[in-house]
Amino acid sequence: MDHRLLEIIACPVCNGKLALNKEQQQLICKVDGLAYSIRDGIPVLLESEAHKLTLDEEGS
Ligand SMILES: [Zn+2]
Repeated sequence: MDHRLLEIIACPVCNGKLALNKEQQQLICKVDGLAYSIRDGIPVLLESEAHKLTLDEEGS
């Protein structure tokens, strides 16, 4: 995924910065504890499509 993209996208819930989880190809919002998936290199920034982070994922 393009790192410049990461700088312009924000969490749709809190408008905060997202962290890229390369291993799982997810964008993480630690504030909301949500993980947004990346499909075919395109982040799916929809709260309805996001899943709650587990404690394990938050720790990584
Ligand atoms: Zn957020």
